[in-house]
Amino acid sequence: MKVFAYVLIRTQPGTSHQIVALRSMPGVVSAHSVFGRFDAVLFVSADNVEQLSQRVYEILAKQPNVVKVETLVCMPSPTEEPVTHKKEEIKLVTSFHCPSCRALNEVDALVCSYCGYRFR
Ligand SMILES: [Zn+2]
Repeated sequence: MKVFAYVLIRTQPGTSHQIVALRSMPGVVSAHSVFGRFDAVLFVSADNVEQLSQRVYEILAKQPNVVKVETLVCMPSPTEEPVTHKKEEIKLVTSFHCPSCRALNEVDALVCSYCGYRFR
């Protein structure tokens, strides 16, 4: 199951852009400079908690200006299930083209509603 974390980072003054530049690293979903108690926030995804901590370590290992890191791991939420498009898929398979006039008909139609062609 996918895990997500907010990584709050305090940097040396004027260097938070180096953290934002990490948004191209694998697993970094977003990266922003912020105002407040921290200077930058990364949103990181991984396949499991072990990979997550490994990624956070790799992302920050070569950052000399990082002063403090606080990682907030998101709690699993059912609303983060991938969105499926079942309705559209059903619509695609429940209509078909009339062999006579090529008009689109519902799959359970017995007669073409356009040209009257009798299916089967
Ligand atoms: Zn027809």
